[in-house]
Amino acid sequence: MIIKMKKQSTPEQIEKIQNHLRSKGFEIHDSVGTTYHIFGVVGDTGSFDTRSLYAFESVESVIRIQEPFKKVNRKLKNEDTLIKVKKVTIGGDNLTIMAGPCSVESKEQVDVIAKAVKESGAHILRGGAYKPRTSPYTFQGLGEDGLKILKDIGEKYDMPVVSELMDKDHIPLFLKYVDIFQIGARNMQNFALLKELGKLDKPIMLKRGFSNTIEEWLMSAEYIMAGGNENVILCERGIRTFEPYTRNTLDISTIPIVKKLSHLPVIIDPSHAAGHWDLVESLSMASIAGGADGLIIEVHHEPENALSDGAQSLKPKKFDDLMKKASNLTQVLDKKIS
Ligand code: PEP
Ligand code: MN
Repeated sequence: MIIKMKKQSTPEQIEKIQNHLRSKGFEIHDSVGTTYHIFGVVGDTGSFDTRSLYAFESVESVIRIQEPFKKVNRKLKNEDTLIKVKKVTIGGDNLTIMAGPCSVESKEQVDVIAKAVKESGAHILRGGAYKPRTSPYTFQGLGEDGLKILKDIGEKYDMPVVSELMDKDHIPLFLKYVDIFQIGARNMQNFALLKELGKLDKPIMLKRGFSNTIEEWLMSAEYIMAGGNENVILCERGIRTFEPYTRNTLDISTIPIVKKLSHLPVIIDPSHAAGHWDLVESLSMASIAGGADGLIIEVHHEPENALSDGAQSLKPKKFDDLMKKASNLTQVLDKKIS
């Protein structure tokens, strides 16, 4: 970290802050210019609140050099993290496709959709049983019955399953039924929940909150990893911007940025980003070309009657077309889709 003192700082003020930092175990490297007094602070600033230094009135700016995340950081582990879920490996040169309905509605519904997406080459079955809905009057999910259906159908088609966990009290239930715990955008900074996930060894797919920076997202992943669970998958699902043509704005730039900063796999959710089924294919192709480790796509055989997110759900035929294009695209990239 580098500290720039205000022009008019007195030697006493400079000594006061430097002594403060030394008392915290840091080393000071002074650089006295003609106009400004600047000094470097050397040591592990990971658990130090750098903003607290603005409480010294003589401080003009504090520049952090070291990223605040450690376990997530590619500087600490250069190889890509591979997450194994039954026979599927996420990360590295694999392109993993997760697909299924937004919500589990019935056994028949999940069966029809799972059969179709499996035949098209999807690896993992998605389906929500506890739904984070904006309105308390809309469908909230089937709860445990939904998880049971998802697990049964996943086994029938030999697909691991991913479902959203909203409440730490549901962890025992999810351990029984679910292979990848999805943490939704709305819970990305539910630190009490993240700490509980750190105690597990289940893969966690952590979605980016719609108003969160990449660094905040990586810090949430750090919470899980700091607790001891290194099986974290990141999922970009679009962020809030001023643009109303899409439900959210898919931040494609997260792929190269996160790949540079972290060794964790990145999955893209074009469905929640777009909000419209007819944008999903383009966003999927852009994500694969941009280096994503996989996609999670909402599919429904009767989207007109879906109990949630029908507008952004692909019909099985459209999903099949997308899979063929995705497969063609992987041939010109260093990726394999099966
Ligand atoms: C979902 O996957 O159905 C969902 C609600 O996602 P998000 O948390 O990204 O809104
Ligand atoms: Mn949805």
